[in-house]
Amino acid sequence: MTIADTTRRELLAGDPERIARADRVIAGLGLPSTGIAVADPATGETIATVADQDASAALAAVGTADAAGRSWARTTPRQRADVLHAWYDLLIAHRDDLAHLIVREMGKPLAEAYGEVQYGADFVRWYAEEAVRPRGDYRESPNGGAQIITRRSPVGLSVLITPWNFPLAMATRKIAPALAAGNPAIVKPAALTPLTTIFAVQLAVQAGVPADLVQVVTTSSASAFSTAVLRDPRVRKVSFTGSTPVGRTLLELASVNVLRSSMELGGNAPLLVFDDADLERAVDGAYAAKMRNVGQSCIGANRIYVQDGIADAFVEGLTERLAAATVGSGFGEAAVGPVIDDRAATQMQQYVDDALEHGATLRTGGHGFDGAGHFYAPTLLDHVDPTSLVARSEIFGPIAAIQRFGTQAEGVERANDTEFGLAGYVFTESLDRAFDVADALQTGIVGINQGVPSNAAAPFGGVKQSGLGREGSAEGLEEYESIRYFSLARRATS
Ligand code: NAD
Repeated sequence: MTIADTTRRELLAGDPERIARADRVIAGLGLPSTGIAVADPATGETIATVADQDASAALAAVGTADAAGRSWARTTPRQRADVLHAWYDLLIAHRDDLAHLIVREMGKPLAEAYGEVQYGADFVRWYAEEAVRPRGDYRESPNGGAQIITRRSPVGLSVLITPWNFPLAMATRKIAPALAAGNPAIVKPAALTPLTTIFAVQLAVQAGVPADLVQVVTTSSASAFSTAVLRDPRVRKVSFTGSTPVGRTLLELASVNVLRSSMELGGNAPLLVFDDADLERAVDGAYAAKMRNVGQSCIGANRIYVQDGIADAFVEGLTERLAAATVGSGFGEAAVGPVIDDRAATQMQQYVDDALEHGATLRTGGHGFDGAGHFYAPTLLDHVDPTSLVARSEIFGPIAAIQRFGTQAEGVERANDTEFGLAGYVFTESLDRAFDVADALQTGIVGINQGVPSNAAAPFGGVKQSGLGREGSAEGLEEYESIRYFSLARRATS
C-alpha cells in the first residue's frame, strides 16, 4: 500500500569535516583489514572491518581474562577506584572522538552522541565512587550461638553482551561495575556497532586497567560465541542487554553451569497523558521519550495513551513537533538521524501500512527515503487500533502511535496489557494521580512528567519479561558480587 505523502523533504547532508574526524579515530584503532564489515547507517558505506572471532578465539579470550582476573581480584577497592576514575577522565578527554565515532557507526545526531558519551562515562565515575564502599555487615544468631559476618566477593569471570543502540553506555554500564567488584570480563558488542566499545576499552587500558583483564570479542556468529563461552566452567556470570527472545536463549544456556544472570531485555513502554496534564510538558516529554535515539531505545514511548479531553490538542502539538523535525545525517543539522539498517526502515513501513489498514489516521510522515542510507520520517499515527501490529510490537523507530482512553482505570489496564515491563510514563499535574498511576504501572521504571528517566544513579531494569536484575546505582554493583557469610560459634565461658 502506498501512503499519500504530505511531508516529504530532502535529507540533510553530513558535514565532511566531521565525517573525516570520525574516520581519523577509526584509523587509530588498529583494526584488521578483513573481517566483519561495519557500515555507516546514514550512507551505507563500509567504514571499518573488525575481527570475526570464532568460538576457539572466544575461548582463548576466556583463558586470558581468567588469568588476569586473579590478581585484579586481590587489588584493593581504592586501587580499583583510582583506575576507574582515570578511565572516566580519559573518556571525557576523548569526548569529541567518542561522539564522532558513535555517530559514524550508529547514526544518532551528534548532539545526542555527546549526551551518550556523558551518560556512558557517568557509569564509570559512579562505579569508581561505589568501589570504595564495599558492603558487608555483622549479625547475631537469634539463639546467641553464633556471630555472623557477611561480605561480598567478586562473582567471577563475567560475559557482557551488548546491543547496537547505545554502543558506549551499554558497555560501560556493565564493564564498570564488573571491574569495580573485582572481576575480569569478556565483552561482546553488537556486530553492527563494535567500534565505540573497542575504543572505550583501549582507553580503559591506557587508564591502567590491566591489558588482558577486559577482552573484547567481535564475531558474526553470536550463537556460536554464547554456546561455547557460557558453557565454559571458568565463566560465572552473564549480563545481557538486548531483545527478549535472545535473552531467553541465553538464560537456557546459563542454566547449564547455573550462571548468575542479569537480563536487560525488550520494552514496550506505555506513556499516559491525562486531561489534567500540562500540555506543553506532555508534548515535550512524549517527543523526547519517543524520538531519543531516533526511537531506537528500550525505554522509548511505544504506546502513547491520551485521555479523551486532551487528545486533540496533544495530537496537534506532537504532530507539529514531529513534522518540523529535520531528517538526515547525524553529522549535519538534522534533528533525526537514520535507523540502524534497511530491515528497520522496511519494518517501519509495515507498521504504518498495517495500522492504516486497521483504521489509524496518518498525521505526518509514513514514508522512507530513496537513495543511500536507511531513513524513516518521523511519523504520527492517531486512533491506532489496539490489535494492529504497531500497538503490539516494540517499534524501535520514529513512529508515535496514539491510542485514546476514557477513565484512569481503563488507561492503566491497557498500559499493563503486555508481557513487558521496562518503563512507563505518566503526565499529569495531580500529585495523587501521578503516584496512583505510577504505583499501578507494572514497570521497573516510571517517568513522571519526564521523558528521559535514565541516570547512572538509578536502578535501571524491568519487571515481567523485560528482565532480571538492575544496572546503575548500588544495586548494579551487587549484580557482580557474591554474598558470603562467616559464622563464628559462641559458647559462654565461665
Ligand atoms: P539483539 O537481542 O538482537 O542483540 C543484542 C546483542 O546480543 C548483540 O550483541 C547480538 O549480537 C547478541 N546476540 C544475538 N543473538 C545472540 C546469541 N544467540 N548469543 C549471544 N549473543 C547474541 O538486540 P538488538 O537488536 O541489538 O537491540 C535491540 C533490543 O535490545 C530491543 O529489544 C531493546 O529493547 C533491547 N534493549 C534493552 C535495553 C535494556 O536496558 N533493557 C537497552 C537497550 C536495548
